[in-house]
Amino acid sequence: MLTGEQYLSSLDDDRVTYFEGRRIKDLLDEPAFEVPARAVAAGYDRCYSPEPGATNPLVVAPTSPEELRERAGVIGEMDLALNVTYQSLMTLLTAASRLQGVDPVYQDRLRAYVDDAIAADIRIAECITDAKGNRSLPPAKQADPDAYVHVVERRRDGVVIRGAKLHISAASLCHDLLVMPTKAMKPGEEDYAITCAVPVGSAGVSVINTTYHPKGDDIRHYPVSSQVSIPDGFVVFDDVFVPAERVFLDGETPQAAVFAHSLGLWERLGGITAMVRQADELVGLAQLIAEANGLAGVPHIRDKVDEMAIHATLLRAGMEAALAHAKATPEGYYYPDELFTNAAKYQGAAEFGRMVHHLHDIAGGAVLTSPSIADLENPDTRRYVEKYMATGTDVSAEDRLRLFHAIRDLTADAFGGWHLVTNLQSGGGLFAQRTVTRRHYDMERAKSIARHSAGIEAP
Ligand SMILES: Cc1cc2nc3c(=O)[nH]c(=O)nc-3n(C[C@H](O)[C@H](O)[C@H](O)COP(=O)(O)OP(=O)(O)OC[C@H]3O[C@@H](n4cnc5c(N)ncnc54)[C@H](O)[C@@H]3O)c2cc1C
Repeated sequence: MLTGEQYLSSLDDDRVTYFEGRRIKDLLDEPAFEVPARAVAAGYDRCYSPEPGATNPLVVAPTSPEELRERAGVIGEMDLALNVTYQSLMTLLTAASRLQGVDPVYQDRLRAYVDDAIAADIRIAECITDAKGNRSLPPAKQADPDAYVHVVERRRDGVVIRGAKLHISAASLCHDLLVMPTKAMKPGEEDYAITCAVPVGSAGVSVINTTYHPKGDDIRHYPVSSQVSIPDGFVVFDDVFVPAERVFLDGETPQAAVFAHSLGLWERLGGITAMVRQADELVGLAQLIAEANGLAGVPHIRDKVDEMAIHATLLRAGMEAALAHAKATPEGYYYPDELFTNAAKYQGAAEFGRMVHHLHDIAGGAVLTSPSIADLENPDTRRYVEKYMATGTDVSAEDRLRLFHAIRDLTADAFGGWHLVTNLQSGGGLFAQRTVTRRHYDMERAKSIARHSAGIEAP
């Protein structure tokens, strides 16, 4: 296993990484990368065991519903690089059992890859979302054939791929990129039916990063994003060679969507786990700021906090149901229930904006205009900030400022904007979750209840 320090050293592999128009030679020289890289390193140290042959128990496939539940809780508390690694490995194992009618060499390769990845203790980013060009056209009909990642050359010892995968969480901080088709492919789109694992440092790979990590020397009024930011990568594959043993599908269009469906499932479970915590966090902030403003007993404020608490509780119920109804692969690996996972993820994403609206409504304009902690420390302004931001003897100005800063950082600034879009789009967007929910919902049962109510005979 790797220690945190060994992980940090492993990032020095000549990877081609850009940020704000510059090539970044040393990720640890740049706060927007150093802070999350050290958070990932801390995750390594938390899991580390010096025993020879030890592996990280958090990335081994759960073999019972209880293990699946326990893992979801622990993984949710860890850094995002570990989260996407777990989801990538579980995706491969779930997909292995669903890959029917293809050369079994793929299953052998992907199981060997999972074993090697666990033994080498690497982090793996999920690369599914293509650039996609004109969304109404399929891959092979795009003006630019590279709008979807595809194979441009097949050699005896591997393939060469070209294209880009966008919005890839933690790409610059991982070791491997797990590339897979973003959707089902049709006959004629064989070159686009490619799943493979590519080291980030491979020749031809470039990562252009964005981040909501706060800027400036004093970032104390960004209490959350200054600790938990993670860069998202625009990952380009410019004729990248992938050796055959790292290719898990190449050209079999009927199976192209297997990986995307498996990834969607694990990514959405990760999404709900995060949303459940986030929903409780929003309820807590709403209640604390209502108390700090002296309004906790006012009926319309209580109604909104209650509505937020009901939303948080139903999300938790959806997550619990997804775990309680876990299913097993033929090998005995447990994965969450598709219906509950997708319905809960949809609900969490669709209602997130309304929960934030309630929080802003309750909190007031100081969410945006609270002075900074530095203003509280400046002897010229301290007495004014203390005098006018305090709301009574039991609520200090500093605590109220800290609450406003946390609310702004989480919901109304760069990180807040990131949350708003990410909750909607991650895991394939609302439409993807609606589609999977419809596929797994027992519509016949619903129709039969409705027929019974209406006194109509079954056909
Ligand atoms: C912060 C962040 C992190 C992310 N992390 C990752 C990651 O780690 N790995 C990864 O692979 N992806 C990641 N994603 C990408 C995410 O999965 C996509 O944003 C999502 O799938 C939507 O794709 P898109 O952004 O290309 O939007 P679009 O596909 O352009 O969708 C925009 C809208 O158009 C609709 N639409 C699109 N095509 C059609 C069509 N043909 N017909 C009808 N309607 C259509 C969609 O339903 C949606 O409503 C991340 C996204 C964000 C915001």
